[in-house]
Order: sequence, then structure tokens, then C-alpha cells
Amino acid sequence: MKQFNDFLKEKLREIEEAGLYRERIVLPPDTVEFSSNDYLGLRDNPSTKEKLYRSIESIALGSGASALISGFHPIQKELEESLAEFKNTESCLVVGSGYMANIGLIPIISEEGDTIFSDQLNHASIIDGIRLSKASKLVYRHCDVEDLERKIRTTNTKGKRIIVTDSVFSMDGDIAPLDELVKISQKYDAVLVVDEAHSTGVLGKEGRGIFSHFGIKPTDNTILMGTLSKAVGSYGAFICGTKLLINYLINRMRSVIFTTALSPLQNFVSLYNLRAIKEEVYRRERLFRNVETFLEISKREGLDVNFFGTPIITYIVREPKRTLYIRDKLLENGFFIGAVRPPTVPPGTSRLRITITSKHTPEDIKRFLSTLSEIVNG
Ligand SMILES: *Cc1c(COP(=O)(O)O)cnc(C)c1O
Repeated sequence: MKQFNDFLKEKLREIEEAGLYRERIVLPPDTVEFSSNDYLGLRDNPSTKEKLYRSIESIALGSGASALISGFHPIQKELEESLAEFKNTESCLVVGSGYMANIGLIPIISEEGDTIFSDQLNHASIIDGIRLSKASKLVYRHCDVEDLERKIRTTNTKGKRIIVTDSVFSMDGDIAPLDELVKISQKYDAVLVVDEAHSTGVLGKEGRGIFSHFGIKPTDNTILMGTLSKAVGSYGAFICGTKLLINYLINRMRSVIFTTALSPLQNFVSLYNLRAIKEEVYRRERLFRNVETFLEISKREGLDVNFFGTPIITYIVREPKRTLYIRDKLLENGFFIGAVRPPTVPPGTSRLRITITSKHTPEDIKRFLSTLSEIVNG
């Protein structure tokens, strides 16, 4: 036992020395967050709460079993139908979380002899999904379609080709070149898996996501997955595609079969928040107005931020300890932002990951940026 505790202490000491020690923080109640993925402020959406008050008597608090036993409640069916319509696909499967979706999906749509082509900056859940797959893996340079095509052409594959990409890259906020990725996937008859965690609710007509943003209809060879925990402001995830795909997933996906289905309560929140995304248009308008305000003021303050057309904006600090220092100083002033360090991002690119939401006021943004400017220049 002593040996085991020494092991733990030694590992934690290494993490601490590298400036990579992590702690969970309960934020003081009046903190202004510039770190949440709740882009549309739907976590406390009054219209969903109102419906919940009225329906609470008849909603089960837990699903009771795996969706394949008796945990598939009518509300989940309705949510899946709404998501399939929202994403312009034939069918949909709702699963526990985005992480569970990726680690369950990728290993079962691939097998030995296949090759998975993965963007260098894909989310950790995609990387873990690929690790669980028997297919071989090739990483292409971030959003570099020429590198992707070169790798596809020069790799002999007996089996299928599968391309996997984030839609909006979670730590950089840039948008995948979906139009070109679709072309390449068609040219080489590859399956294209797109992770819509940060595009759902944000990009495209009515917040329908990256396919709508590019005006592209998902083909039979595309799989769209995404989470209900970001702009939808709830919890859970979805995989959208053909009916054939969904039937296969129901039969094979271990993170669906061997886990309890989401609570009907949670699915209720997802369903009505999804409606709010379509109907409460002012939320997205306010979000993008806030993004513009943020960019104008950061320019005035001389802060060199990276912006790619999404509400995820980064300020690169490089050094992890300095990133933490700035994070802590901001917190002292009532602001919270994510200090993103390796292994979440490549070494030497530690950053402040700033997210804008519809709930920020122009005053919040102004005060945040003047405080940040004082800290980094002072
Ligand atoms: C957050 C995120 C996930 C994981 O989703 P959860 O529902 O939080 O587990 C997957 N992929 C991407 C790109 C993400 O940003």
C-alpha cells in the first residue's frame, strides 16, 4: 500500500512541477464566466423550466435500465426524431455523453484492415475512440486537406477509409473545411465522421450546425455526432445518420448496450432546449453581437486574440505557469476563464480559452477585457 501511495505522490509531484496540476473549483456565485460552452444561455432557460414545472408529476427521474432493456422512454424517441430532423438525417441515436458516443462509435464502424484519418487537433474522445479501434490510424495536419489527400493516396488500404474531424475545434475555435472534406470523402469513397459538439446551436440556419453552415446535405457516408451538453445546455449526446447505421449501432455499440439510458428528465430538458434553439432566435443574435463587441474592444485594448468566426476565442500565453497566473488574477477580479494547458493542447501553446455567450452584457465584456489587458501588460 505504501508503494502505491508513493507512486501517486510521485506522479502528482511531476504534474505539479510542470505547471499542469489541476483542481476543480466551485466558483463564487457572482463570478462572470468566460469559459462555459453554454453559448445560448440555455442552462437556465425559463421556457424549458416552465414546461418542466407543468410536467414534472409525469416525468420519471431515472430511465431504470439500458435503452435495449426498458430504458427507452417515449421522450427519448421524440428527442431522437427531433434531432434527426434538425440535422437533416434519416435517423438518430441518443447516448450518454459525447465522450461515450465517440469511444463507442469509432471502434465499431471500423475493423482490422481499415484506415482512420484523423485531424491532428481532434478532441480527446475521438483519439480514445481510435485507440479502441483495430483499424490503423493516420493523423493529418490540422485542417490541411492537401495533407489528408496525400495520405489517402499513398496509403494502401485493404478495407474502408474513415475520416474523422471536429466541426469547430474545441480548443482553437476554428471551423473544419467541411466542403473539401466532403469532396475528398466522396472521391475516395470514405466514411466521414463529423463531431458537432461546438457547431450545434451555433453555426448554420437555426443553429443546425456545420452542414447547414456550408449548405451541404449529409450523404449516406456521413455520420454526425454531437453533444447535448454545450449549446443545448443539457446533457447527453447524439449520433445522426442513416437508419441502417443507427440499427447497426443499437446492435453493436457497447456504450449504449452496457449502460443505463439517460434520464427522461434530462431528455426532457434536451428536447425543449432544442426547440428553443430553433424558436428563440434572439439568443444566437445576441451571441454574435457579443462576439463582435468582444473583438472591437480587444482590438482597442491591444489584445492579440485569435478569432475564426465562432464564440471560442483564444489568447495564447504559451507558458503553462504564466497561463495559470493570469487565470488566477482574473478570478481575483471576479472573472473565470479556462487555462488550457498540455496535454489538452500541444506543448508551448498554453492559452486562455475564452468563450462568449448570449448571457454576457457589453459591460461584462468591457470590464473583462480591461482587466485582462491590465494583467498582461501591467
Ligand atoms: C465536449 C466535447 C466532446 C464530449 O462531449 P461530452 O458530452 O461533454 O462528453 C466530444 N467532442 C468534442 C469536440 C467536444 O468538444
